Amino acid sequence: MAKGEENNKSTAKKKTTSTSKNSAKTTTKNTTSSTKSKTASKSTAKSTSTKQTSKAKTDSKGSDEKPLVEVGKTNVKVAGVKMKKKTALALTLTIVAIILIAAIVFAIVYVTNSDFKNQVDEWIYYSILHRDENSGNSNGGEVLIADGELQVHMLDVGQGDCILILFPDGKEMLIDCGNKSTGYSYEETTKPYLEKYITDGQIDYLMLTHCDEDHVDQLDKVLAGFVVDNIYMPNVKSGSTKDKFAEQFAALPADRVAMFTDEDTIDSDVYTKFYLGALTEVASDGNLADIILNIGNFAIEGETYKIDFFCYTQEEWDSANLGDAHKKNAVSPIGILQYNGKRVVLTGDSNEINEPNFIEKAKEFYGVDKLDCDVLKVGHHGSETSTTNEFLDFITVEYAFISCNASGNTFNHPRQATLDRLIARNVTFYRTDLNGNIVCKISGTTISFEVETKVDAELLKQGLTGETS
Ligand SMILES: [Zn+2]
Repeated sequence: MAKGEENNKSTAKKKTTSTSKNSAKTTTKNTTSSTKSKTASKSTAKSTSTKQTSKAKTDSKGSDEKPLVEVGKTNVKVAGVKMKKKTALALTLTIVAIILIAAIVFAIVYVTNSDFKNQVDEWIYYSILHRDENSGNSNGGEVLIADGELQVHMLDVGQGDCILILFPDGKEMLIDCGNKSTGYSYEETTKPYLEKYITDGQIDYLMLTHCDEDHVDQLDKVLAGFVVDNIYMPNVKSGSTKDKFAEQFAALPADRVAMFTDEDTIDSDVYTKFYLGALTEVASDGNLADIILNIGNFAIEGETYKIDFFCYTQEEWDSANLGDAHKKNAVSPIGILQYNGKRVVLTGDSNEINEPNFIEKAKEFYGVDKLDCDVLKVGHHGSETSTTNEFLDFITVEYAFISCNASGNTFNHPRQATLDRLIARNVTFYRTDLNGNIVCKISGTTISFEVETKVDAELLKQGLTGETS
Protein backbone atom coordinates (compact mmCIF):
# COMPACT_ATOMS: atom_id res chain seq x y z
CA MET A 1 0.00 0.00 0.00
CA ALA A 2 2.82 2.34 0.95
CA LYS A 3 4.44 1.74 -2.39
CA GLY A 4 1.23 2.63 -4.23
CA GLU A 5 0.78 5.82 -2.26
CA GLU A 6 4.34 6.80 -2.87
CA ASN A 7 3.82 6.20 -6.56
CA ASN A 8 0.71 8.39 -6.61
CA LYS A 9 2.58 11.11 -4.78
CA SER A 10 5.45 11.09 -7.20
CA THR A 11 3.02 11.19 -10.14
CA ALA A 12 1.24 14.14 -8.59
CA LYS A 13 4.55 15.88 -8.01
CA LYS A 14 5.59 15.34 -11.61
CA LYS A 15 2.27 16.65 -12.83
CA THR A 16 2.55 19.84 -10.78
CA THR A 17 6.05 20.42 -12.05
CA SER A 18 5.06 19.91 -15.63
CA THR A 19 2.03 22.21 -15.27
CA SER A 20 4.11 24.99 -13.79
CA LYS A 21 6.66 24.49 -16.55
CA ASN A 22 3.92 24.84 -19.13
CA SER A 23 2.51 27.95 -17.56
CA ALA A 24 5.99 29.42 -17.34
CA LYS A 25 6.38 28.75 -21.04
CA THR A 26 3.03 30.34 -21.82
CA THR A 27 3.87 33.41 -19.76
CA THR A 28 7.15 33.87 -21.57
CA LYS A 29 5.43 33.51 -24.92
CA ASN A 30 2.75 36.04 -23.97
CA THR A 31 5.34 38.50 -22.74
CA THR A 32 7.26 38.16 -25.96
CA SER A 33 4.19 38.60 -28.09
CA SER A 34 3.02 41.61 -26.08
CA THR A 35 6.46 43.21 -26.43
CA LYS A 36 6.31 42.52 -30.14
CA SER A 37 2.88 44.07 -30.48
CA LYS A 38 4.01 47.10 -28.51
CA THR A 39 6.93 47.53 -30.87
CA ALA A 40 4.65 47.03 -33.82
CA SER A 41 2.14 49.63 -32.65
CA LYS A 42 4.97 52.00 -31.86
CA SER A 43 6.40 51.74 -35.35
CA THR A 44 2.92 52.06 -36.86
CA ALA A 45 2.30 55.18 -34.83
CA LYS A 46 5.64 56.56 -35.92
CA SER A 47 5.08 55.89 -39.61
CA THR A 48 1.55 57.29 -39.46
CA SER A 49 2.75 60.43 -37.82
CA THR A 50 5.53 60.80 -40.39
CA LYS A 51 3.03 60.31 -43.19
CA GLN A 52 0.64 62.82 -41.69
CA THR A 53 3.43 65.35 -41.25
CA SER A 54 4.57 64.97 -44.83
CA LYS A 55 0.97 65.11 -45.98
CA ALA A 56 0.40 68.26 -43.94
CA LYS A 57 3.51 69.71 -45.53
CA THR A 58 2.22 68.84 -48.99
CA ASP A 59 -1.16 70.35 -48.14
CA SER A 60 0.48 73.51 -46.89
CA LYS A 61 2.25 73.73 -50.24
CA GLY A 62 -1.17 74.15 -51.80
CA SER A 63 -1.88 70.69 -53.22
CA ASP A 64 -5.61 70.00 -53.83
CA GLU A 65 -5.37 66.23 -53.24
CA LYS A 66 -7.90 65.16 -50.59
CA PRO A 67 -6.54 63.63 -47.38
CA LEU A 68 -7.12 59.91 -46.76
CA VAL A 69 -9.36 60.45 -43.76
CA GLU A 70 -10.87 63.78 -43.02
CA VAL A 71 -12.50 64.25 -39.65
CA GLY A 72 -16.00 65.58 -39.93
CA LYS A 73 -16.44 64.50 -43.56
CA THR A 74 -18.59 61.51 -44.50
CA ASN A 75 -16.23 59.94 -47.04
CA VAL A 76 -13.80 57.27 -45.80
CA LYS A 77 -11.52 54.87 -47.56
CA VAL A 78 -11.79 51.25 -46.42
CA ALA A 79 -9.37 48.76 -47.93
CA GLY A 80 -8.68 51.17 -50.73
CA VAL A 81 -12.38 51.67 -51.53
CA LYS A 82 -14.00 55.01 -50.96
CA MET A 83 -17.40 54.76 -49.30
CA LYS A 84 -19.82 56.54 -46.99
CA LYS A 85 -18.85 56.37 -43.31
CA LYS A 86 -22.21 54.79 -42.39
CA THR A 87 -21.80 52.07 -45.05
CA ALA A 88 -18.30 51.27 -43.79
CA LEU A 89 -19.57 50.96 -40.22
CA ALA A 90 -22.40 48.67 -41.34
CA LEU A 91 -19.96 46.51 -43.29
CA THR A 92 -17.60 46.23 -40.33
CA LEU A 93 -20.46 45.31 -38.00
CA THR A 94 -21.71 42.66 -40.44
CA ILE A 95 -18.27 41.08 -40.65
CA VAL A 96 -17.92 41.07 -36.85
CA ALA A 97 -21.41 39.52 -36.53
CA ILE A 98 -20.58 36.76 -39.04
CA ILE A 99 -17.35 35.94 -37.19
CA LEU A 100 -19.19 35.87 -33.86
CA ILE A 101 -21.95 33.57 -35.17
CA ALA A 102 -19.36 31.22 -36.71
CA ALA A 103 -17.45 31.14 -33.41
CA ILE A 104 -20.63 30.37 -31.45
CA VAL A 105 -21.64 27.57 -33.88
CA PHE A 106 -18.10 26.15 -33.70
CA ALA A 107 -18.15 26.26 -29.87
CA ILE A 108 -21.55 24.51 -29.71
CA VAL A 109 -20.48 21.71 -32.08
CA TYR A 110 -17.14 21.40 -30.25
CA VAL A 111 -18.86 20.94 -26.90
CA THR A 112 -21.68 18.65 -28.07
CA ASN A 113 -19.92 16.47 -30.65
CA SER A 114 -17.08 14.44 -29.13
CA ASP A 115 -15.84 13.18 -32.52
CA PHE A 116 -15.50 16.74 -33.75
CA LYS A 117 -13.82 17.76 -30.49
CA ASN A 118 -11.29 14.92 -30.80
CA GLN A 119 -10.54 15.87 -34.41
CA VAL A 120 -10.02 19.51 -33.49
CA ASP A 121 -7.91 18.68 -30.44
CA GLU A 122 -5.81 16.34 -32.50
CA TRP A 123 -5.37 18.94 -35.23
CA ILE A 124 -4.35 21.59 -32.70
CA TYR A 125 -2.01 19.16 -31.01
CA TYR A 126 -0.37 18.02 -34.22
CA SER A 127 -0.36 21.27 -36.15
CA ILE A 128 0.31 23.90 -33.55
CA LEU A 129 1.39 22.70 -30.16
CA HIS A 130 3.54 19.66 -30.63
CA ARG A 131 4.86 19.35 -34.13
CA ASP A 132 8.41 18.23 -33.70
CA GLU A 133 10.16 17.26 -36.90
CA ASN A 134 13.34 16.38 -35.03
CA SER A 135 11.89 14.08 -32.39
CA GLY A 136 13.32 10.96 -34.03
CA ASN A 137 9.80 9.66 -34.50
CA SER A 138 9.32 10.92 -38.01
CA ASN A 139 9.87 8.86 -41.10
CA GLY A 140 10.56 10.40 -44.49
CA GLY A 141 9.17 13.75 -43.31
CA GLU A 142 5.93 12.20 -42.06
CA VAL A 143 5.35 12.86 -38.35
CA LEU A 144 4.32 9.50 -36.91
CA ILE A 145 4.07 10.47 -33.27
CA ALA A 146 3.65 14.01 -32.04
CA ASP A 147 5.83 15.34 -29.27
CA GLY A 148 4.27 14.52 -25.90
CA GLU A 149 2.10 11.75 -27.33
CA LEU A 150 1.96 8.09 -26.32
CA GLN A 151 0.65 5.48 -28.77
CA VAL A 152 -0.43 1.87 -28.30
CA HIS A 153 -0.64 0.00 -31.61
CA MET A 154 -2.54 -3.25 -31.86
CA LEU A 155 -1.34 -4.81 -35.10
CA ASP A 156 -3.67 -6.98 -37.11
CA VAL A 157 -1.84 -10.31 -37.14
CA GLY A 158 -4.91 -12.51 -37.57
CA GLN A 159 -5.14 -15.05 -34.74
CA GLY A 160 -2.44 -13.78 -32.41
CA ASP A 161 -1.13 -10.76 -30.54
CA CYS A 162 1.34 -8.02 -31.44
CA ILE A 163 1.28 -4.78 -29.44
CA LEU A 164 3.67 -1.92 -30.08
CA ILE A 165 3.90 0.91 -27.55
CA LEU A 166 5.59 4.16 -28.58
CA PHE A 167 6.54 6.20 -25.53
CA PRO A 168 6.79 10.00 -25.59
CA ASP A 169 10.55 9.90 -24.91
CA GLY A 170 11.21 8.02 -28.16
CA LYS A 171 11.48 4.56 -26.56
CA GLU A 172 9.45 1.56 -27.72
CA MET A 173 8.03 -1.61 -26.26
CA LEU A 174 6.86 -4.62 -28.24
CA ILE A 175 4.60 -7.09 -26.46
CA ASP A 176 4.32 -10.45 -28.25
CA CYS A 177 4.50 -11.07 -31.96
CA GLY A 178 2.73 -14.19 -33.07
CA ASN A 179 0.28 -15.55 -35.53
CA LYS A 180 -1.65 -18.72 -36.18
CA SER A 181 -3.56 -17.77 -39.31
CA THR A 182 -3.02 -19.12 -42.77
CA GLY A 183 -1.89 -16.70 -45.44
CA TYR A 184 -0.12 -14.46 -42.93
CA SER A 185 3.38 -13.25 -43.71
CA TYR A 186 5.60 -11.53 -41.13
CA GLU A 187 7.86 -10.19 -43.90
CA GLU A 188 4.98 -8.67 -45.85
CA THR A 189 2.81 -7.26 -43.09
CA THR A 190 4.28 -7.01 -39.58
CA LYS A 191 7.92 -6.29 -40.43
CA PRO A 192 7.24 -3.23 -42.63
CA TYR A 193 4.80 -1.91 -40.03
CA LEU A 194 7.36 -2.23 -37.23
CA GLU A 195 10.11 -0.73 -39.41
CA LYS A 196 7.93 2.26 -40.18
CA TYR A 197 7.65 3.15 -36.49
CA ILE A 198 10.94 1.83 -35.11
CA THR A 199 13.06 4.04 -37.33
CA ASP A 200 16.40 3.40 -35.61
CA GLY A 201 16.09 -0.40 -35.72
CA GLN A 202 16.38 -0.62 -31.93
CA ILE A 203 13.69 -1.79 -29.50
CA ASP A 204 14.08 -0.79 -25.84
CA TYR A 205 11.73 -3.34 -24.29
CA LEU A 206 10.42 -6.60 -25.70
CA MET A 207 8.03 -8.81 -23.77
CA LEU A 208 6.76 -12.32 -24.34
CA THR A 209 3.66 -12.81 -22.16
CA HIS A 210 3.52 -16.61 -22.43
CA CYS A 211 4.75 -19.42 -24.67
CA ASP A 212 1.77 -19.90 -27.01
CA GLU A 213 2.53 -19.97 -30.71
CA ASP A 214 0.15 -17.10 -31.50
CA HIS A 215 2.27 -14.84 -29.25
CA VAL A 216 5.80 -16.07 -29.82
CA ASP A 217 6.23 -17.49 -33.28
CA GLN A 218 7.46 -14.31 -35.02
CA LEU A 219 9.59 -13.06 -32.13
CA ASP A 220 12.76 -14.86 -33.25
CA LYS A 221 12.50 -12.87 -36.50
CA VAL A 222 12.04 -9.65 -34.53
CA LEU A 223 15.18 -10.47 -32.50
CA ALA A 224 17.08 -11.16 -35.72
CA GLY A 225 15.90 -7.98 -37.45
CA PHE A 226 16.06 -5.45 -34.59
CA VAL A 227 18.51 -4.68 -31.80
CA VAL A 228 16.72 -5.35 -28.51
CA ASP A 229 18.02 -4.02 -25.18
CA ASN A 230 15.70 -5.55 -22.56
CA ILE A 231 13.81 -8.83 -22.87
CA TYR A 232 10.97 -9.77 -20.52
CA MET A 233 9.92 -13.41 -20.72
CA PRO A 234 8.30 -16.25 -18.76
CA ASN A 235 10.37 -18.43 -16.44
CA VAL A 236 10.27 -21.32 -18.89
CA LYS A 237 13.38 -23.36 -19.66
CA SER A 238 13.44 -24.60 -23.20
CA GLY A 239 14.19 -28.26 -23.94
CA SER A 240 17.96 -28.64 -24.32
CA THR A 241 17.54 -32.20 -25.54
CA LYS A 242 16.29 -31.10 -28.93
CA ASP A 243 18.79 -32.52 -31.38
CA LYS A 244 18.10 -30.07 -34.15
CA PHE A 245 19.16 -27.16 -31.92
CA ALA A 246 21.95 -29.02 -30.06
CA GLU A 247 24.71 -26.74 -31.33
CA GLN A 248 22.90 -23.54 -30.30
CA PHE A 249 22.04 -24.93 -26.85
CA ALA A 250 25.69 -25.88 -26.28
CA ALA A 251 26.75 -22.29 -27.04
CA LEU A 252 24.37 -20.67 -24.52
CA PRO A 253 25.95 -18.84 -21.57
CA ALA A 254 25.49 -21.09 -18.51
CA ASP A 255 24.55 -18.26 -16.14
CA ARG A 256 21.72 -17.21 -18.44
CA VAL A 257 20.35 -20.76 -18.72
CA ALA A 258 20.48 -21.06 -14.92
CA MET A 259 17.99 -18.17 -14.58
CA PHE A 260 15.20 -20.41 -15.86
CA THR A 261 13.78 -22.97 -13.45
CA ASP A 262 10.37 -23.92 -14.83
CA GLU A 263 9.97 -26.67 -17.39
CA ASP A 264 6.33 -27.58 -17.00
CA THR A 265 4.81 -25.34 -19.64
CA ILE A 266 4.54 -26.57 -23.19
CA ASP A 267 7.87 -26.25 -24.93
CA SER A 268 7.40 -25.79 -28.67
CA ASP A 269 9.94 -25.30 -31.47
CA VAL A 270 8.79 -21.71 -31.94
CA TYR A 271 9.41 -21.00 -28.24
CA THR A 272 12.82 -22.68 -28.48
CA LYS A 273 13.79 -20.42 -31.41
CA PHE A 274 12.80 -17.35 -29.40
CA TYR A 275 14.56 -18.66 -26.25
CA LEU A 276 17.82 -19.22 -28.17
CA GLY A 277 17.55 -15.78 -29.79
CA ALA A 278 16.76 -14.02 -26.51
CA LEU A 279 19.64 -15.54 -24.55
CA THR A 280 22.14 -14.54 -27.24
CA GLU A 281 20.66 -11.16 -28.30
CA VAL A 282 23.27 -8.40 -28.42
CA ALA A 283 21.98 -5.05 -27.14
CA SER A 284 22.82 -1.59 -28.49
CA ASP A 285 25.70 -1.20 -26.00
CA GLY A 286 27.40 -4.29 -27.43
CA ASN A 287 26.66 -6.45 -24.37
CA LEU A 288 24.10 -9.22 -24.17
CA ALA A 289 20.52 -7.93 -23.76
CA ASP A 290 19.13 -7.88 -20.23
CA ILE A 291 16.78 -10.77 -19.50
CA ILE A 292 14.06 -10.10 -16.95
CA LEU A 293 11.72 -12.92 -15.91
CA ASN A 294 8.01 -12.14 -15.66
CA ILE A 295 7.83 -12.81 -11.94
CA GLY A 296 6.13 -10.82 -9.16
CA ASN A 297 5.75 -7.06 -9.43
CA PHE A 298 8.05 -4.98 -11.65
CA ALA A 299 7.86 -1.75 -13.64
CA ILE A 300 9.02 -0.08 -16.81
CA GLU A 301 9.14 3.68 -16.52
CA GLY A 302 10.25 6.91 -18.12
CA GLU A 303 10.10 10.45 -16.80
CA THR A 304 6.40 10.87 -17.60
CA TYR A 305 5.04 7.31 -17.93
CA LYS A 306 5.07 4.02 -16.06
CA ILE A 307 3.86 0.46 -16.56
CA ASP A 308 3.41 -1.62 -13.43
CA PHE A 309 3.31 -5.33 -14.18
CA PHE A 310 1.64 -7.87 -11.93
CA CYS A 311 2.56 -11.56 -12.30
CA TYR A 312 2.78 -14.70 -10.22
CA THR A 313 5.45 -14.57 -7.53
CA GLN A 314 8.14 -17.27 -7.70
CA GLU A 315 6.37 -19.09 -4.86
CA GLU A 316 3.03 -19.05 -6.70
CA TRP A 317 4.77 -20.07 -9.91
CA ASP A 318 6.51 -23.01 -8.20
CA SER A 319 3.32 -24.27 -6.59
CA ALA A 320 1.21 -24.14 -9.77
CA ASN A 321 1.33 -26.83 -12.42
CA LEU A 322 1.39 -24.51 -15.42
CA GLY A 323 1.48 -27.26 -18.04
CA ASP A 324 -2.26 -27.17 -18.58
CA ALA A 325 -3.14 -24.88 -21.51
CA HIS A 326 -5.55 -22.79 -19.47
CA LYS A 327 -2.98 -22.29 -16.71
CA LYS A 328 -0.28 -21.56 -19.25
CA ASN A 329 -2.21 -18.48 -20.37
CA ALA A 330 -2.47 -17.34 -16.75
CA VAL A 331 1.26 -16.58 -16.52
CA SER A 332 0.61 -13.53 -18.77
CA PRO A 333 1.57 -10.38 -16.87
CA ILE A 334 -1.17 -7.79 -16.38
CA GLY A 335 0.27 -4.32 -16.92
CA ILE A 336 -1.14 -0.95 -15.90
CA LEU A 337 0.26 1.72 -18.21
CA GLN A 338 -0.10 5.24 -16.79
CA TYR A 339 0.41 8.45 -18.74
CA ASN A 340 -1.07 11.94 -18.27
CA GLY A 341 -3.57 10.59 -15.74
CA LYS A 342 -4.82 7.94 -18.18
CA ARG A 343 -4.50 4.17 -17.71
CA VAL A 344 -4.28 1.38 -20.28
CA VAL A 345 -4.61 -2.24 -19.09
CA LEU A 346 -2.40 -4.80 -20.85
CA THR A 347 -3.30 -8.47 -20.45
CA GLY A 348 -1.74 -10.95 -22.89
CA ASP A 349 -3.92 -14.09 -22.62
CA SER A 350 -4.83 -13.49 -18.95
CA ASN A 351 -7.96 -15.29 -17.79
CA GLU A 352 -10.18 -16.16 -14.84
CA ILE A 353 -7.22 -17.84 -13.12
CA ASN A 354 -4.84 -14.88 -12.83
CA GLU A 355 -7.34 -12.00 -12.99
CA PRO A 356 -8.31 -12.45 -9.28
CA ASN A 357 -4.61 -12.74 -8.40
CA PHE A 358 -4.02 -9.39 -10.15
CA ILE A 359 -7.01 -7.71 -8.47
CA GLU A 360 -5.75 -8.73 -5.04
CA LYS A 361 -2.23 -7.46 -5.72
CA ALA A 362 -3.32 -4.25 -7.45
CA LYS A 363 -5.71 -3.38 -4.60
CA GLU A 364 -2.83 -3.54 -2.17
CA PHE A 365 -0.32 -1.87 -4.49
CA TYR A 366 -2.49 1.13 -5.36
CA GLY A 367 -4.43 1.19 -2.08
CA VAL A 368 -7.80 1.26 -3.86
CA ASP A 369 -10.98 -0.84 -4.13
CA LYS A 370 -11.48 0.04 -7.78
CA LEU A 371 -8.84 1.14 -10.26
CA ASP A 372 -10.13 3.86 -12.58
CA CYS A 373 -8.69 2.84 -15.97
CA ASP A 374 -9.50 4.02 -19.51
CA VAL A 375 -8.53 1.40 -22.08
CA LEU A 376 -8.44 -2.41 -21.91
CA LYS A 377 -6.50 -4.70 -24.18
CA VAL A 378 -9.03 -7.53 -23.92
CA GLY A 379 -7.45 -10.74 -22.62
CA HIS A 380 -7.07 -13.91 -24.70
CA HIS A 381 -8.60 -12.55 -27.93
CA GLY A 382 -12.03 -12.12 -26.32
CA SER A 383 -12.27 -15.62 -24.85
CA GLU A 384 -15.27 -16.33 -22.64
CA THR A 385 -13.07 -17.40 -19.72
CA SER A 386 -11.22 -14.06 -19.73
CA THR A 387 -12.41 -10.52 -18.91
CA THR A 388 -14.67 -11.62 -16.07
CA ASN A 389 -17.29 -9.35 -14.50
CA GLU A 390 -15.13 -9.07 -11.36
CA PHE A 391 -12.17 -7.93 -13.47
CA LEU A 392 -14.27 -5.37 -15.38
CA ASP A 393 -15.77 -4.11 -12.11
CA PHE A 394 -12.31 -3.55 -10.72
CA ILE A 395 -10.62 -1.80 -13.67
CA THR A 396 -13.65 0.18 -15.03
CA VAL A 397 -12.71 1.16 -18.61
CA GLU A 398 -14.37 3.21 -21.36
CA TYR A 399 -12.54 1.73 -24.33
CA ALA A 400 -11.28 -1.72 -25.29
CA PHE A 401 -9.50 -3.32 -28.20
CA ILE A 402 -9.41 -6.97 -29.15
CA SER A 403 -6.87 -8.84 -31.26
CA CYS A 404 -8.76 -11.64 -32.97
CA ASN A 405 -9.49 -13.39 -36.21
CA ALA A 406 -13.19 -14.22 -36.08
CA SER A 407 -13.34 -15.91 -39.47
CA GLY A 408 -10.27 -18.07 -39.14
CA ASN A 409 -9.91 -19.51 -35.65
CA THR A 410 -11.25 -22.65 -34.06
CA PHE A 411 -11.63 -21.03 -30.63
CA ASN A 412 -14.65 -18.92 -31.58
CA HIS A 413 -13.00 -15.66 -30.51
CA PRO A 414 -14.22 -13.12 -29.74
CA ARG A 415 -17.02 -14.71 -27.77
CA GLN A 416 -20.45 -13.10 -27.70
CA ALA A 417 -20.57 -13.51 -23.91
CA THR A 418 -17.38 -11.44 -23.52
CA LEU A 419 -18.61 -8.72 -25.89
CA ASP A 420 -21.90 -8.63 -23.96
CA ARG A 421 -20.01 -7.93 -20.73
CA LEU A 422 -18.32 -4.94 -22.41
CA ILE A 423 -21.57 -3.76 -24.02
CA ALA A 424 -23.36 -3.91 -20.64
CA ARG A 425 -20.75 -1.44 -19.34
CA ASN A 426 -21.06 0.91 -22.34
CA VAL A 427 -17.46 0.16 -23.35
CA THR A 428 -16.57 1.31 -26.87
CA PHE A 429 -14.50 -1.42 -28.46
CA TYR A 430 -12.48 -2.11 -31.59
CA ARG A 431 -11.45 -5.44 -33.15
CA THR A 432 -8.54 -6.25 -35.44
CA ASP A 433 -10.63 -8.78 -37.42
CA LEU A 434 -12.97 -5.95 -38.51
CA ASN A 435 -10.96 -2.75 -37.97
CA GLY A 436 -7.51 -4.00 -39.04
CA ASN A 437 -4.62 -2.22 -37.30
CA ILE A 438 -5.82 -0.16 -34.33
CA VAL A 439 -3.93 2.75 -32.77
CA CYS A 440 -4.80 4.19 -29.36
CA LYS A 441 -3.33 7.65 -28.83
CA ILE A 442 -2.98 9.60 -25.62
CA SER A 443 -2.33 13.24 -26.52
CA GLY A 444 -2.41 15.57 -23.57
CA THR A 445 -5.32 14.19 -21.58
CA THR A 446 -7.29 13.11 -24.66
CA ILE A 447 -7.62 9.48 -25.73
CA SER A 448 -8.43 8.79 -29.37
CA PHE A 449 -8.50 5.72 -31.57
CA GLU A 450 -7.51 5.38 -35.20
CA VAL A 451 -8.49 2.30 -37.14
CA GLU A 452 -7.46 1.03 -40.55
CA THR A 453 -11.06 0.20 -41.51
CA LYS A 454 -14.14 1.87 -40.05
CA VAL A 455 -17.09 -0.47 -39.57
CA ASP A 456 -20.64 -0.17 -38.33
CA ALA A 457 -20.85 -0.21 -34.52
CA GLU A 458 -23.53 -2.94 -34.64
CA LEU A 459 -21.22 -5.23 -36.60
CA LEU A 460 -18.53 -4.88 -33.92
CA LYS A 461 -21.01 -6.15 -31.34
CA GLN A 462 -21.49 -9.46 -33.13
CA GLY A 463 -19.25 -12.04 -31.51
CA LEU A 464 -19.20 -15.80 -31.87
CA THR A 465 -20.88 -18.57 -29.97
CA GLY A 466 -20.05 -22.26 -30.01
CA GLU A 467 -18.44 -25.10 -28.09
CA THR A 468 -14.84 -24.02 -27.67
CA SER A 469 -13.98 -21.03 -25.52
ZN1 LIG B 1 -3.25 -16.06 -27.60
